[in-house]
Amino acid sequence: MRRTELQISLSALENNLKVIKSFTNASVQGVVKANFYGLFDDRMHEIIEQNVESYAVVTIDEALSLRKLTSKPILLFQGVHEQNDYKMIEENNLDFTIHSSWQLKGLSDFNLENSRIWLKLNTGMNRLGFNDKDFLIALKEIEILNIKDIVLMSHLASSETKSNPNNLKQIKKFIDVTKKFSYLKSMANTGGIFNFKEAHFDIVRPGIGMYGGKYSEFGIKPVTKLRSKIISINKVRKGESVGYDGMWTAQESSRVAAVGIGYADGLPFFSSEKTVIINGEKFYTAGMLSMDLMLVNLGINDKVKVGDWVDIWGFENDLSNIAQQFETISYKLLTNISSRVSKNYIE
Ligand SMILES: *Cc1c(COP(=O)(O)O)cnc(C)c1O
Repeated sequence: MRRTELQISLSALENNLKVIKSFTNASVQGVVKANFYGLFDDRMHEIIEQNVESYAVVTIDEALSLRKLTSKPILLFQGVHEQNDYKMIEENNLDFTIHSSWQLKGLSDFNLENSRIWLKLNTGMNRLGFNDKDFLIALKEIEILNIKDIVLMSHLASSETKSNPNNLKQIKKFIDVTKKFSYLKSMANTGGIFNFKEAHFDIVRPGIGMYGGKYSEFGIKPVTKLRSKIISINKVRKGESVGYDGMWTAQESSRVAAVGIGYADGLPFFSSEKTVIINGEKFYTAGMLSMDLMLVNLGINDKVKVGDWVDIWGFENDLSNIAQQFETISYKLLTNISSRVSKNYIE
């Protein structure tokens, strides 16, 4: 069997939920979009279920699968994508966002008494949400509907950077527009939870923090380890090249390991040297990443052998640092892992 695995630590997940909860008095909405950031499993869900008061996803399919596992509120972050979706919302008691006026059309044709509407204000990210004036108009329209509740929400564009002044501008704007209303309010993702207490309001929405993708400085632990076994080792002489386009050339007689993981497993494509760990020791990749294989320069090391594990990342480092060397972000590393990588859940 090809051994390319993502280990997922359930105790780290649990730790992260506890850490997040220790930072806030707000109620916690578990953001589980994109199949729990790529990590879904029943045991994973159980741990999150014990620690959150509601969930958020993006697609109706995600919401329907989750509805089979929980009776807690499930929010559709982008609301409906077409008017027909309100039928599914009605049948499955889903909460939904309204970010644009077209989503208001036909709302009153449905029985939404078991749904909360999350009305989204654009406070400066300029991605989704109403401007102030239209926000107040939309609020008037939904206030007369027979619905369970209204939540006023916005989203921070730069929450991971505490020093970015746009955060406080966004928070101030949110407060200015919503302070006269007593509805529940929500603004903070993980970065907002750790960096901006004033953005917590009533409901916080952590995603990446739960999955250990960032914020180790606040006590968040990495939840994943990606590793694969060496399936072959070649000897190359000084001056010989390896891999597609011969992009890497041996500077001395070297051993080169072929490892069973490639970009089709979800690793970002690369052609420059990346670090990996074998038996606790650091090595560099050699040449271009292939679809199903990665080459590692073992140099003159003669101890590493076929069958040894190669760690692409582990439980020791903040995943956002690993992401940097791949010129990407930890969100993408997690959500890109492909289905042919086996997921093994450990305590
Ligand atoms: C994805 C998402 C979150 C979670 O963000 P993290 O940075 O992963 O904590 C929160 N709110 C909204 C609107 C989102 O789309």
